[in-house]
Amino acid sequence: MNLETIAAIATALGEASIGVVRVSGENAKAVAERMVRTPKGRSVSFSGPRKILYGQIVHPRTEVVIDEGIVLWMPGPHSYTAEDVVELQVHGGIQLVQTVLEATLAAGARLAEPGEFTKRAFLNGRMDLSQAEAVMDLIRAKTDFAGRVALQQVQGRFSEEVRSIRRALIELQAHVEVTIDYPEHDVEAVACEQVVEVGTALMRRIGALLDGAKLGQILRDGVATAIVGRPNVGKSSLLNALLRRDRAIVTDIPGTTRDVLEEYVNVRGIPLKLIDTAGIRETSDVVERIGVDKSRQSIREAELVLFVLDGTMPPTPEDVEILQSTQGLKRVLVVNKMDAGIHPELAEFVDGAEAAAVVHVSAREQQQIEQLESEIARLVQGEMSLERDTTYMTNVRQKNLLEVATTDLEMAIDAAQAGATLDLIAVHLQSTYEELGLVIGEETGEDLLDEIFSRFCLGK
Ligand code: GDP
Ligand code: ZN
Repeated sequence: MNLETIAAIATALGEASIGVVRVSGENAKAVAERMVRTPKGRSVSFSGPRKILYGQIVHPRTEVVIDEGIVLWMPGPHSYTAEDVVELQVHGGIQLVQTVLEATLAAGARLAEPGEFTKRAFLNGRMDLSQAEAVMDLIRAKTDFAGRVALQQVQGRFSEEVRSIRRALIELQAHVEVTIDYPEHDVEAVACEQVVEVGTALMRRIGALLDGAKLGQILRDGVATAIVGRPNVGKSSLLNALLRRDRAIVTDIPGTTRDVLEEYVNVRGIPLKLIDTAGIRETSDVVERIGVDKSRQSIREAELVLFVLDGTMPPTPEDVEILQSTQGLKRVLVVNKMDAGIHPELAEFVDGAEAAAVVHVSAREQQQIEQLESEIARLVQGEMSLERDTTYMTNVRQKNLLEVATTDLEMAIDAAQAGATLDLIAVHLQSTYEELGLVIGEETGEDLLDEIFSRFCLGK
């Protein structure tokens, strides 16, 4: 193995209390020895078993002290990448952490590509592909729940299940192939029955993995939630109330939310990707026009619509239009400005409208926002059964492969039912086995690997 020694910042950039620069590879030891001194300034040797020490971090060329910090020495193979790893934990602050990173480069490391640490962990057999992908999901996990599911996957539950299904397939295939050599018809029929029976059970297990795809997507990307309503009903105020901080522009002038904003909000463990829109309204203003087009688009893509109405006024033709354009979508009618009273005609309008839920709130006064959150959680959770503990977070790549595997397994079962030749059945079983291998990266090309790992954050 002759990989270069790589380095990157492993913590999020910004005002964290500590920043970690991670170095991995054959020269990690040399890099550390060039940069780490005891608190009194004496040099340190990094041989032997793993250790933690406190000391000075110096620039390798100038010997200028950059910071004091904690240094972790983790010799391979018992490290994240299975290579020699040094972690320099210094005081947070983007400038300082960058300086430490630059010093590691001056000491002989090169800047890691995004995901390169995890890629090495995979290449060195420390984790399989779906575990590696789960690391990325973990980094991106937007809520605790998503983090928990991703963690389970890092721990290998998903891969374990795929492996177990593959083992069963191999056995089944072995059974079929052995039978090919027996010309007797009875033996063949028994093998076919076996394929139907075992195959159907395996289909169900792959199906359970596929169920995880939807949940996985939601936990990773959030539930696309469009906040719609005509200008001035309080969409931006509602967004702010949900975010409990001021990010969207709130004004008295109709149509001032020019851009479609995207914000994430954690509603009872479910990440919602909130989209504030410029309001559906025919307009000649070019800038706003763009916002309106985007808002139409965001409605089409929304999995959940929060339709905001001004409770103090009778419904307008625009309200009726929005009601129609969101027909058939999962929508919550949010009757806003309850602090200022509800107009009877609006109450009537709401009564007659079809909706998954109706909630009265005051966005500005932050009243009943919790009630709205419960309704949202109920609506999303109903389908996702988030409390189940056998949750797999299947990603798009895995989902596609699992679908192909299902099709092949189905063909094997159909062929067995139709009394086709055992050779044909064996071919389909073999494809199923190979596709499942790709899911966990046991048979995979270099291109796919690069593609997957390039999506990682730097430093992981
Ligand atoms: P948008 O155009 O739909 O995004 O509406 P905004 O959030 O910008 O709000 C429009 C106006 O309605 C502002 O003057 C807000 O202060 C006011 N408003 C928003 N929510 C409430 C509320 O709950 N009660 C009352 N009384 N006024 C509100
Ligand atoms: Zn607005």
